[in-house]
Amino acid sequence: MRCKLCGRPAYIKLHYPRMYLCEEHFVEYFERKVQRTIEKYKLLRKGEKILVAVSGGKDSAVTAYVLNKLGYDMECLHINLGIGEYSEKSEAYARKQCAIIGAPLHIVRVKELLGYGIGEVKTRRPPCSYCGLTKRYIMNKFAYDNGFDAIATGHNLDDEASFLLNNILHWNTEYLAKGGPLLPGEGKFVKKVKPLYELTEREVVAYALAVGLEYIVEECPHARGATTLDMKAMLNEMEEKRPGTKMNFVKGYLRKRHLFELREKVELKECKVCGMPAQGEVCSFCRFWGLEKPLDFRVRRG
Ligand SMILES: [Zn+2]
Ligand SMILES: [Zn+2]
Repeated sequence: MRCKLCGRPAYIKLHYPRMYLCEEHFVEYFERKVQRTIEKYKLLRKGEKILVAVSGGKDSAVTAYVLNKLGYDMECLHINLGIGEYSEKSEAYARKQCAIIGAPLHIVRVKELLGYGIGEVKTRRPPCSYCGLTKRYIMNKFAYDNGFDAIATGHNLDDEASFLLNNILHWNTEYLAKGGPLLPGEGKFVKKVKPLYELTEREVVAYALAVGLEYIVEECPHARGATTLDMKAMLNEMEEKRPGTKMNFVKGYLRKRHLFELREKVELKECKVCGMPAQGEVCSFCRFWGLEKPLDFRVRRG
């Protein structure tokens, strides 16, 4: 098959919209789509300082690569979770990716910072639950301490569709209020954006390959990933039969999201330890890690 635009041999067959593209035109298509997503949902403005959270995986690497190529002012943050060899490998990939991109990379190591890696803490909480809490806190505090205007993450269309489907199956309505490509900043919460929101996982993989980004393929050893993978497989099966299923599902959600939003907002206080937003006296991060002094992520710039 041949590229719809230039007639050269096709690199990829897109399912929705259905067309064949050569490598060069696919790369162009992908980048234009990221730019359009940013404009359509008003995610970022030129001149804003953006922190990209790079995990070593494909999605965040592609996010950093494209934002840099589109001319955004961006730097990267890698959080080493202290999960043995898996984390060492992830960090090595993040370093390689940022070297290719030519973006400054900051690294925070959970084990050095807090004494234990994820999975080493004696607690009843499953690792994935306090891992998520820890990552979200560090990302936000790092961005806040260093004056970033936004945090960009690598969530793609498949991630969003499977997140929504899973939460609908369990009727987790409080989570269903929190989807979407943009979480506006508020007080000490830095704005969060998902520039790959309308691109499929398959397109992200094809793009990474086309521009020569290598990434970690293994799943985290703690991952409860099975459910997400089942959801994704189910959605892909639907997509095969009815192209556009994922996109329509997600866009329909964006139109109906208000149905899940809480009428009363929870009043947030300031954490007694770190001063960041908290539901009680002490924020869930400082409480979990038993902190008595706030963490300071300010980077000295020469
Ligand atoms: Zn072409
Ligand atoms: Zn705190």
